[in-house]
Amino acid sequence: MSTFQDFPIRWGMVIDIDKCTGCGACVVACNKENNIAPQDNQLRRIEAKGFPTRFKKIEWLTIYELTDGGDTAYLPRPCMQCGVPSCVSVCPAIATDKNENGGIVSQIYPRCFGCRYCMASCPYHARVFNWDQPVWPEGMEKQLTPHTSVRSRGVVEKCSFCHHRLMYAKDAARVAGEDPEKLADGAYMPACAEVCPTGAITFGDVKNPEHAVYELARSPHTFRLLARLGTDPQVYYMSKRAWVRLQGDNYLANEKAQVNEGGAHHG
Ligand code: SF4
Ligand code: SF4
Repeated sequence: MSTFQDFPIRWGMVIDIDKCTGCGACVVACNKENNIAPQDNQLRRIEAKGFPTRFKKIEWLTIYELTDGGDTAYLPRPCMQCGVPSCVSVCPAIATDKNENGGIVSQIYPRCFGCRYCMASCPYHARVFNWDQPVWPEGMEKQLTPHTSVRSRGVVEKCSFCHHRLMYAKDAARVAGEDPEKLADGAYMPACAEVCPTGAITFGDVKNPEHAVYELARSPHTFRLLARLGTDPQVYYMSKRAWVRLQGDNYLANEKAQVNEGGAHHG
């Protein structure tokens, strides 16, 4: 599990839970950017079989509600782009991999044959399976973006940090005569980070001191989901509320001291 390459660039996001209002704009932007079809018919079919919809609907970014007494917080959860991704280790088809500069975990749909090992291995429930062919309401197919492929029934899909935007940002840098491996802060940004009305999602190279995420990821209020599993997520969360950090890290009551003693660790 420790054989994954540590890249010079580490694309990551810091989500400030104290700024997130749970409005869902990031989810809508993600669906639009990545050609995720509306799923009314699928949900009806699945609900009729008694499955909980949250495990079945196609969504690359899910917002969880956390509560403690009278206090509420919202936790948006994309793919963590793990530094040590268990999904990659188990895939028999090399349909998901971590070999891009920047550490983004890819998902290659034509290779996926739907065994769902990756879904079983992902501790974050960040992957979803296409039970049905996507259905676009009449006229809506005209708003499909050419940047992202449409997935068919029978494959697993997940968040890619809007990888196509990284490719466009690199192309723009080349055209401008700049180094595509040294993108300026903000030159590449996923749709969710771009659209968030409260600025709760900061995106950039966690290893680059010139990017805003560098400092944020090292804040004492920063934590990562299930960090102790050793998955080394490239998504970081921050909150000044101790109970949020405790719930986010899923520590037991008798382990509280561990999460209060420091922030996230970095690869
Ligand atoms: S479902 Fe697809 S991506 Fe997941 S392990 Fe199987 S082949 Fe690989
Ligand atoms: S969050 Fe899940 S799907 Fe994403 S890289 Fe980690 S193990 Fe893989």
